[in-house]
Amino acid sequence: MTGPPATAAARPSVLAVFAHPDDESLACGGLLAWCHALGIRTSLLCLTHGEHGGQPGTQSLATTRANELRAAAAALGIDDVALLSHEDGMLPWIDAALLERDILDAVARTAADVVITFDEDGLYWHPDHVAVHERTTAAVLSAPEPRPTLYYVTIPNGAMRAVLDESRTRALTQHAPSPPPTHILGIANPDAFGAHAPAPTLVLDTGDFARQKLMALHCHRSQLGTRDALPLMTSDTAPALLAIEQYRRAAVGAATDTFLERLAGRADRHRAPESPPSRD
Ligand SMILES: [Zn+2]
Repeated sequence: MTGPPATAAARPSVLAVFAHPDDESLACGGLLAWCHALGIRTSLLCLTHGEHGGQPGTQSLATTRANELRAAAAALGIDDVALLSHEDGMLPWIDAALLERDILDAVARTAADVVITFDEDGLYWHPDHVAVHERTTAAVLSAPEPRPTLYYVTIPNGAMRAVLDESRTRALTQHAPSPPPTHILGIANPDAFGAHAPAPTLVLDTGDFARQKLMALHCHRSQLGTRDALPLMTSDTAPALLAIEQYRRAAVGAATDTFLERLAGRADRHRAPESPPSRD
């Protein structure tokens, strides 16, 4: 078997590693959509089907969430999705070496220059998220040279409170007002998101790509209960409420700046640029 074509190998490559369908959209949907528009290869490794979270419909929740993830990935332009079947809710107790091997396989398969995963706060201290942070850190540490650069992502503290407040206002001003929303993706406390996250080293304004982020979030319907704020959000408010994403360079992995640092200075987040950035 021959390797990938030279043109594909020359493309920068970013791999996102998360625990459940919907993590990718909420944490870094704007960046993934932006990377796709820039011609950067975007890949996702999702370690569980999230089969224990949400309301089952006529089919199993695992199947529903796999379909939702496929739709969200299409909305974001993710090139490659690997959805594994580790048990939802059990990631801290699954053999660490097994998870690290899965992550290393994905790093090798996608030739990732950049890996993104949860910061140590796990967005809101979700045990599966914290485990993925730890396993991905260990995997990158043990990756063969040249190692990818590892970034941790969290939610800007206060961002989900702003989403909830805006959706509550919208609910009150509707002709047939719906009950005011109380949750964000099933989480009852919007202030929990990013509450104790370490300070970021990179803050990205993903601009209009936040509209695709919202589209992707809306794909995860099984996670959006009747009191959830996200279904009330519309595309016009997405750039103001969802565009800012926070990243932190890990101590492990390559130490050089990547295309992510250069995104911070780009003013083209409101349109798709002509050519991809270089690999490093
Ligand atoms: Zn999750």
